[in-house]
Amino acid sequence: MRVLRTVAELRSCRKDLSRTGSSVGFVPTMGCLHEGHLSLMRTARQQNDSVWVSIFVNPTQFGPNEDFERYPRTESRDIELCRECGVEILFIPPAREMYPEGSQTWVEVEHLPKALCGASRPTHFRGVTTVVAKLFNLVQPDRAYFGQKDAQQVIVLDRMTRDLDFPVRLVVCPTVRESDGLALSSRNVYLDAEQREQAVVLSQALAEVEELFEKGERDPNKITEHIHNRIQAMPLARIDYVSVVRTTNLQPAEKLDGGELVALAVFFGTTRLIDNIVLGERSLIDT
Ligand code: AMP
Repeated sequence: MRVLRTVAELRSCRKDLSRTGSSVGFVPTMGCLHEGHLSLMRTARQQNDSVWVSIFVNPTQFGPNEDFERYPRTESRDIELCRECGVEILFIPPAREMYPEGSQTWVEVEHLPKALCGASRPTHFRGVTTVVAKLFNLVQPDRAYFGQKDAQQVIVLDRMTRDLDFPVRLVVCPTVRESDGLALSSRNVYLDAEQREQAVVLSQALAEVEELFEKGERDPNKITEHIHNRIQAMPLARIDYVSVVRTTNLQPAEKLDGGELVALAVFFGTTRLIDNIVLGERSLIDT
């Protein structure tokens, strides 16, 4: 495995690999790697000749009062995990490599980023699409791997990839969870013991509404009401949103047919956790 830190080195490696005709599977991350990230890498390993990973805590996707400074950074451990996973190229650029002095170009999807998380994080997805577009240009992957845990991110990036004709296939991998159901997240380390205990309500409530749907519930208001009630029973939880939306436009679903996204964001203290399910075991994007 090679660890690269500059755009010039990355371009040169990509050029060399292009001559061999090998396929590249790419996994962009912000590091502090856990089993969720590793599952993406393992899937990429199975489907491509070469796996490339980036670790970049992207400043442009954090809001002014968010956790950019204290976001957990565990680089030497991450390097070992990537090595064990059979990663060929690990790109860890400093911020000045991705955003040199004078950078002023954004890649912005117009409508989808305003829904769900965008209401409380208005500049977040512009940062995500800009950095992922830049990484796609540099890595030129055949396939790129993303977790369903960040469902809106997948939908926004799918739109960007289609709109800008990136020759990349997006692959969505299932959310990896702790044994009690909590979705793995680098931000889970912020939770204290009591918050961690109560956070299990998120995945429980989602599993319950999946069951309600399977038993025939077709009213989205009943779904959101059930989740609200379950979460509000936890004294340390503060709901940001609970929504049932169509995956095509992220607008509220009027009735349920299967394929709707049930998504939520909930604060425990200052830590904001997200989770979601797609009803009826359907996929998030068309592939
Ligand atoms: P991050 O490092 O948080 O930017 O995440 C990098 C990638 O890992 C994104 O595509 C995430 O959706 C994915 N990811 C994060 N947590 C999980 C999880 N629990 N299960 C599956 N994928 C995940």
